[in-house]
Amino acid sequence: MSEPASADRPPYARYDFHSHTYLTDGNTSATAMWRYALQLRHEVLAITDHLGTEDPAPLLARLRSEARAWEDSPLIPLIGVEVTHVPPRKVPEAVRAARRAGAEVVIVHGETLAEQVLPGTNRAALELGEVDILAHPGLLTPEEAELARAHGTILELSGQRAHALANGHIARLALAAGAPLAVDSDAHAPEQLLPAELARKVALGAGLPEDRLRAVLEDAPRALLKRVRRNP
Ligand SMILES: [Zn+2]
Ligand SMILES: [Zn+2]
Repeated sequence: MSEPASADRPPYARYDFHSHTYLTDGNTSATAMWRYALQLRHEVLAITDHLGTEDPAPLLARLRSEARAWEDSPLIPLIGVEVTHVPPRKVPEAVRAARRAGAEVVIVHGETLAEQVLPGTNRAALELGEVDILAHPGLLTPEEAELARAHGTILELSGQRAHALANGHIARLALAAGAPLAVDSDAHAPEQLLPAELARKVALGAGLPEDRLRAVLEDAPRALLKRVRRNP
């Protein structure tokens, strides 16, 4: 049994690898997002603004310069991108360009039920084996869940209301395949960040049993963090 949540000590540490700023469609700066994440005592907040096939260098240079403010704080500020609405055959190129430009976290905007994302986007992201997280993959297939397991690509349970429509389906397929899962906020504003206790409830609401919570809320994020920090 896990201990009851308390305001002082949430039951699980909070790792969030998906959020946005006004550099794309969020409503505030990276600096402000990290400041609020620090206040919520997050361990990690990755800023992953939207990227198409344009040069990712300016976006990442800007995020890198803002991340410096938090280097001495308990919060780990990660920088990255969410490859969004790129035709599936162009996904590998966009992912690699982002890595070359210094993205620590690379997400692909998956086939959410909330938008018309090109079919084949989930598969392109999962076949590549170089994507950290497939965000809000919608009606994921068992074959795609198996690819996620094989490549260690995290399947996302979304804290965004519209993207969360398929969370239960994604949790079920990921558990069946043994694929890693994580809960991300996809916050576009500071108040959309998920406090640790709400992230736990999002996981439970997706149908995860209590005994899988630590794997999703802490183990998979920590494994990703380790991988990120090993990269130069
Ligand atoms: Zn997205
Ligand atoms: Zn997003």
